[in-house]
Amino acid sequence: MKWAGVIIFFSVLFNSIPGICQHDYIYQTNLITIYYNDRSVLLRFKERIKPDAMALAIDNILLGEELNPDEELKRYVDKLFQKVQLILDMPRPKLKIKMRLFSEYDDLMKVYNKYTKGKGASPPAFFMESENTIFINVRAVTRGILAHEMAHAVISDYFIIDPPSNVAEILCRYVDKKISGQSFQRFPGKRRY
Ligand SMILES: [Zn+2]
Repeated sequence: MKWAGVIIFFSVLFNSIPGICQHDYIYQTNLITIYYNDRSVLLRFKERIKPDAMALAIDNILLGEELNPDEELKRYVDKLFQKVQLILDMPRPKLKIKMRLFSEYDDLMKVYNKYTKGKGASPPAFFMESENTIFINVRAVTRGILAHEMAHAVISDYFIIDPPSNVAEILCRYVDKKISGQSFQRFPGKRRY
């Protein structure tokens, strides 16, 4: 799929998911379908989740190729998704997920409130298992936060019976810390999504 994306005409399919509408564009990677409503939102997302300069340099040396800008985001998100599975030791090579990008915090909250009925925190991103979708505020998301939500997606796919939510949350925080290069604290604090 080209960077410019295509307008979705299959409205019936998408109208059932809050926050995803028939006028959205699609950016398709090998593993992830990303919905967005403006190219600037997609570009901002790319900048927010870009690996650091060292990782990018190593990547380019290993692959020996220069990617065009349209291809970069595909690599960023697919590689991150695979890395999350590696950290968890839960390979799900066939797992495909969706993401919906928002540029406004209020738009994300509208969707969040629909699912949670207005309870709880105000997350920069959250994974909704029933939709197999990560909803993201591109102004607030980081690589670590995205990896955390990807970990929720992997865990929910990996286990036939979902692990207790605290267990899943600890695993996701571990992934976040690994990706962010921070030390891991075993017990989660208040923040939880
Ligand atoms: Zn979480």
